[in-house]
Amino acid sequence: MSERFAAKRMQGLVQSDIRRLTIECDKVGGINLGQGICDMPTHPLVKQGAIDAINNGKAIYTHAMGLIELRRKIADKIKAFNGVSYDPETELCVTVGSTGAFAIGVMATLDPGDEVILIEPFYGYHLNTLIMAGITPKYAHVDLKTLALDRASVERAVSSKNRAIVICNPCNPAGVLFSEADLKWLGDIAIKHDLLIFADEIYEYIAFDGRKHVSAAKLPGLRERTLTLGGYSKTFSVTGWRIGYLAAPAAIMKRAAVANDLLYVCAPHPLQRGVLAGLDAPASYYEDVRAEYERGRNMICAALEKGGFKPYAPQGSYYVMADFSKLGWTDDQTASRELLARTKIAAIPGGAFYEPGSRRGEKLLRFCFAKPLDVLAEACQRLEKL
Ligand code: GLN
Repeated sequence: MSERFAAKRMQGLVQSDIRRLTIECDKVGGINLGQGICDMPTHPLVKQGAIDAINNGKAIYTHAMGLIELRRKIADKIKAFNGVSYDPETELCVTVGSTGAFAIGVMATLDPGDEVILIEPFYGYHLNTLIMAGITPKYAHVDLKTLALDRASVERAVSSKNRAIVICNPCNPAGVLFSEADLKWLGDIAIKHDLLIFADEIYEYIAFDGRKHVSAAKLPGLRERTLTLGGYSKTFSVTGWRIGYLAAPAAIMKRAAVANDLLYVCAPHPLQRGVLAGLDAPASYYEDVRAEYERGRNMICAALEKGGFKPYAPQGSYYVMADFSKLGWTDDQTASRELLARTKIAAIPGGAFYEPGSRRGEKLLRFCFAKPLDVLAEACQRLEKL
């Protein structure tokens, strides 16, 4: 294909493995444990809220920052669950998914040539959104065997050009739930070097083994430099609705809200109303969702062990990274291809979550277990038999 019309910012960027695997999986009618599509039932309140909104003609633009009723409810949720206060008028923006929240946060605060720290294994869309914005990534690491943050790697990644650090917590893809001590330590680094923190907390309700999610913005001194990304894709199983939010101090939000207006105008109106209705769900709903994912995590980790993988059991989120060395595949692309061919199960090559060209992900696959339990059980049977 001719590169004549290609923008420099897109150089090297291609369709993600996350998306590619869904297409490959659909071709063979497989079970998609690749992309985190999250095809679980949507809460009835959420569905009815959107249906009513459509029937009642709620079809025009909302405020660029989203419906104020929704912003108020999200602010109440953040206060109660995350322990941080935001003014719904000036510090919250309803976005086109948390991906949209990241995009407007980046547009509002970073310039081409800035450096940003990502913690490997990272969510590939963070990396590629930064690249598209002309930003240079720097890499720190988590040790998969212990799920512990390698603090020295963070210190090595800091430079005078560094403007921000991205923390995905619980993290996609390794399921690390950052401890309060690690967040405080990262926060001290951010304060010392005057860095922003992008805290992607979209999996905040999915924490296992009695662990509790801690929001970066809650820690002393961090609210003023933290942009929190959240959303309802995972919590209400509406990944295709694209309703997320950005919470940030007014001085940052002033610019981010303009970016949101320019890029998206607003998030889809009736779907905002669906989420608004869903926020009336009782507390037990969130615990049920969490417990179901914990069951799924236990099932898939056991099946992966039996099948010859070495899974690194996640502390949260709905993904698990697994080492396939014992199964003999030469690299992650081959493993993903062979797995799909032999079992009709899609999983993402580990390289998608590491510095491009580094080979640190080459013995890994990422499996998503956000599946109805009967489908997951069938997938587990196939994995066990490998
Ligand atoms: N967050 C999901 C994943 O990591 C879906 C992302 C996407 O489709 N871009 O698979």
